[in-house]
Amino acid sequence: MPFFKVNENCNGCLACVQNCPAGALNYFDQEDSRKIMHNMSLCARCGHCWRICPQDAIEFKVLLTGRFDLVKTLDLVHCKVCGEPIYTPSFGETVSNDTQRSVEPLCPDHKGSEPVNVWKKLASKRASQ
Ligand code: SF4
Ligand code: SF4
Repeated sequence: MPFFKVNENCNGCLACVQNCPAGALNYFDQEDSRKIMHNMSLCARCGHCWRICPQDAIEFKVLLTGRFDLVKTLDLVHCKVCGEPIYTPSFGETVSNDTQRSVEPLCPDHKGSEPVNVWKKLASKRASQ
């Protein structure tokens, strides 16, 4: 589903293209048609085009109401002492595999950081090799 949509109210005035501060809008005229282009990777999600459009033609509400798009949901392991969420099961597996030791589900206050620190040391050692 495209987050940026120009609906049928658009009359091709180009106010959006001319006022986009990020250069995320462009257009080209070809024979009988004007094509308005939007580049999501350049778009700053500022909503300026949406505010400035005299035709209410830009439908950008998804990005305006939700600054962050949900891209992934993961389970969490909780500290077995206090119940604080600490890391994901798959991260715990990675730490276990990389350190060759089982990881106790304990938060930093309950010594849970020790295996993570061991894994971080291993990871940075590997990166420097
Ligand atoms: S400002 Fe609105 S009406 Fe003008 S070209 Fe852009 S979307 Fe279309
Ligand atoms: S939201 Fe802002 S950066 Fe994105 S296209 Fe509209 S004016 Fe440009």
